[in-house]
Amino acid sequence: MERARAQPRAKTGRPAGGAWTYDVASAELRLSQGARALLDLPEAGPFDEMLARMPVGAGERKLLRVAIRRCAKEKADFDLRLRLVTSGGGSMARLVGGATEGADGVVSRVAGAVFAADDEARLWEQVAERAAHLSSIMETALDGMVVIDGAGIMQSFSRAAERMFGLAAKEAVGQNVSILMAEPDRTRHDGYISHYLATGERRIIGVGRIVTGRRRDGSPFPLHLSIGETHVEGRRLFTGFMHDLTEERRTQSRTQQLQAELAHISRLSALGEMGSALAHELNQPLAAIGNYITGSRRLLADAGLPSAAKIEGALERAAEQVLRAGQIIRRLRDFVSRRAGERRQESVAKLVEEAAALGLVGAREKGVTLNFDLDPAHDALVADRIQIQQVLVNLLRNGLDAMDGSIRRELKVASRLAAPDVLEIAVSDTGPGIAPEALSRLFEPFFTTKVSGLGVGLSISRGIVEAHGGEISAQNNPGGGATFRLTLPLSARGAP
Ligand code: ADP
Repeated sequence: MERARAQPRAKTGRPAGGAWTYDVASAELRLSQGARALLDLPEAGPFDEMLARMPVGAGERKLLRVAIRRCAKEKADFDLRLRLVTSGGGSMARLVGGATEGADGVVSRVAGAVFAADDEARLWEQVAERAAHLSSIMETALDGMVVIDGAGIMQSFSRAAERMFGLAAKEAVGQNVSILMAEPDRTRHDGYISHYLATGERRIIGVGRIVTGRRRDGSPFPLHLSIGETHVEGRRLFTGFMHDLTEERRTQSRTQQLQAELAHISRLSALGEMGSALAHELNQPLAAIGNYITGSRRLLADAGLPSAAKIEGALERAAEQVLRAGQIIRRLRDFVSRRAGERRQESVAKLVEEAAALGLVGAREKGVTLNFDLDPAHDALVADRIQIQQVLVNLLRNGLDAMDGSIRRELKVASRLAAPDVLEIAVSDTGPGIAPEALSRLFEPFFTTKVSGLGVGLSISRGIVEAHGGEISAQNNPGGGATFRLTLPLSARGAP
């Protein structure tokens, strides 16, 4: 009689399993209650019949038959995983068996256990899933990933690392990670690891720093390295995440160079602007001095003084110096405004993007968004890159300044063909717009409404745009904010 005891069950609700016996002489299979419940079979029956009723696939049925026969003949233990085909879908069972010998040394029985292996199966699935996930990360991550063991030997090498170092994973794995480093780390790296293992003192783990990597061809390059540590089955593993900084460095030095060029030209232009303003301001007093001198010379001639000739000579030289003063100032102005510009074919998109990178330093922190709407069909322009960028930087910075008190902070740079041979670049903002009384004076030198403004930016910009044969203008947007437009001829025109 069956015991009225609840069957032990696996977590899934399936019976947990039990024992089985195969009698060699009678070829009969006998199952314990748990095994019966799991395999959905009667207590005992001829082996072939029982096997035929077992809820497994044909291939597994064959495997099981072979395993039991071989065990009976050769005493070979076996351990099989079976996928049970049940109405509720598949689940796994594990069936193990071994031979039992009689006193004569002949195998009389093959016996073992069968138990639900759903948890185990799920575990394997999870392991496989994680391994697949990890390898997909290793395949696709843009940053390089290299896993090393406690001896510094590379265990895995991602696709991006292959590209970064010019080294195939199969060449790298098994080698010391120091081959990826430039001196002095190359020779010292083993020491770093043993120091860490001995003292637990973290120098780079969890921190990350910029180091010099070494490509296969020996060339060094900057990279940002951060390291994570894991313990797997008592083994220490370190994963290095590497980001190649070559491109960033290149952009950085290009930005610095551009900044330096712009600062230089700004100084020159400001000087020129100052010169022209001075010339303008001094013109009247100089002209007046000239007139007074002419008048004095006339009075002197009429007075008939004995020393008249001497005084006359002195006055004449004074008049010459007045003229010279005017010329010096004008020459200074001409010198700067007629700077022999280098005009080349430039990409508008590149011009604008570089100018934005320079002009919008700190803009993101202020919550300013920048949009480009550049016409790709008309991207080529013959211009002095530095000068045009200076104009754009100035317009962008003015836009930023204007939006300081605004809630909506959006800058937009758009380009379009304004006439068959004329490109228009428009910089718009969402600031308060330009006050009506300021609108007509914006481009005058030294006109500013800012506390610390110089008021030369727009007048320099106008000078530059006009020297290129174009025009610059400002207007308020219907929806608020201001738009500054500059037009530039697509083919070189205007004074070089
Ligand atoms: P600065 O910026 O030193 O004042 P600028 O010549 O570049 O010199 O600008 C002159 C003036 O034009 C500014 O002081 C400001 O009043 C006005 N202005 C320029 N850009 C804008 C703008 N985007 N929105 C509103 N006003 C502007």
